Amino acid sequence: MTQRLWAPRAWLDGRWCDRVLLGVDVDGCWAEVEPDVAAPEDAETIAGPVLPGLVDAHSHAFQRAFAGLAERRDGAYDDFWSWRDRMYGVALRITPAQLRAIAAHLYVELLAGGYTQVCEFHYLQHDLDGSRYADPAALSHALADAASDAGIGLTLLPVLYERAGFTAPELRADQRRFATGVDDVLALQQAIRRPLVNAGVAVHSLRAARPESILALAERSHGPLHIHVAEQTAEVDDCLAATGCRPIEWLARHAPLDQRWHLVHATHSVAAEIDAVAARGAGVVLCPGTEGNLGDGLPDLPGWLAAGVPLALGSDSQVTRTWPEELRWLEYGQRLGLRRRNVSAAPGAEPSTAARLFERVRAGGAAAAGFAQWGFQVGARADLLVVDPSDPALRGLPADHLLDGLVFTAPTRPFARVMVAGRWRALHHEGIATRFGDAMQTLWSPGGTPTPHE
Ligand SMILES: [Zn+2]
Repeated sequence: MTQRLWAPRAWLDGRWCDRVLLGVDVDGCWAEVEPDVAAPEDAETIAGPVLPGLVDAHSHAFQRAFAGLAERRDGAYDDFWSWRDRMYGVALRITPAQLRAIAAHLYVELLAGGYTQVCEFHYLQHDLDGSRYADPAALSHALADAASDAGIGLTLLPVLYERAGFTAPELRADQRRFATGVDDVLALQQAIRRPLVNAGVAVHSLRAARPESILALAERSHGPLHIHVAEQTAEVDDCLAATGCRPIEWLARHAPLDQRWHLVHATHSVAAEIDAVAARGAGVVLCPGTEGNLGDGLPDLPGWLAAGVPLALGSDSQVTRTWPEELRWLEYGQRLGLRRRNVSAAPGAEPSTAARLFERVRAGGAAAAGFAQWGFQVGARADLLVVDPSDPALRGLPADHLLDGLVFTAPTRPFARVMVAGRWRALHHEGIATRFGDAMQTLWSPGGTPTPHE
């Protein structure tokens, strides 16, 4: 045991417990979790209630440089596809040093937003002209360096990206930095070995990878396997036209879906697809802030919840970077669509919307990042969030409603302190903030890069 903490309240097994002793071992994991004990003399007393950190299960860190830059409409119509073309303007010119600066700032923000692990769905691989870097993992290293700079855990998911569409055998010229085959992805999965970093693999989408490659990658890789699926109705239509199946249906029929698989978005689903995913044990990663920003549509959240499918959250395009806000958007989308309240609650067993969603994404996020254990359990990594009960939005809230308040009263800085693997992490870092500002200035200065409207 290297350190002991004592919290007045902690979230154990889906509920608040009082007077909880938490011991950390030399590996940065919980060695002791004990409620209802007096504070031992050798323990550090924590000033507020504590929650487990959560996993941000879907991130494209470089898109942090684009947040706030796509919120104007110059033409008659703007949708996901026009956003994507503009986003490629960033993808086409960001350098490894800029990626590290952008990602490090993002990761500090994610820590402050209550995430202690981030899954990078990493498809930006090559130099600006599409040629390979001397070290093909140069941009993976930039992300791992950024995670070390910030002190967040990182699950790298190198992405299989082969073609521009179901009927387009090649990538487009503006996708040249993404090109990978199965062997590339497998090599990238092995490339980074350092503390707080693990790796799975990803398939960009059914439209961007050949079926035989998807099956080969699933066969030859290990760890979590993520795929964007059914985010856009156009993708559903194209998949139906090309294969005769809807995207999730195709995966259920043709891919070895199991607990390794995490379907990102899965926005456009039908009941039979939800049943098939549930039967195979695969998970779903929802990105409510981004899905709202991009006008993707609303997922069948009641369907996924009722089927018991593991759910996780992702910050995706980085327009939102705190899990309380993601959960708020997730539930509000359902309320607006269904004209009901507390859609995600389960009366009787789990009447709190926030608590039910939190527990689901705690477990589902851990699986998406390849962790067998997560939260205040002996053996799990020693990550925690100290809630700041003096935040104006939380002040005076009855203790049992703290999680409800975190999600639905919109505190601006809900977490006073954040621990990852037994170490407190800085929630503001002047050097990281400065390097981010410098990178943004270089990326967006007139003449420096294409503007998002070019
Ligand atoms: Zn994505």
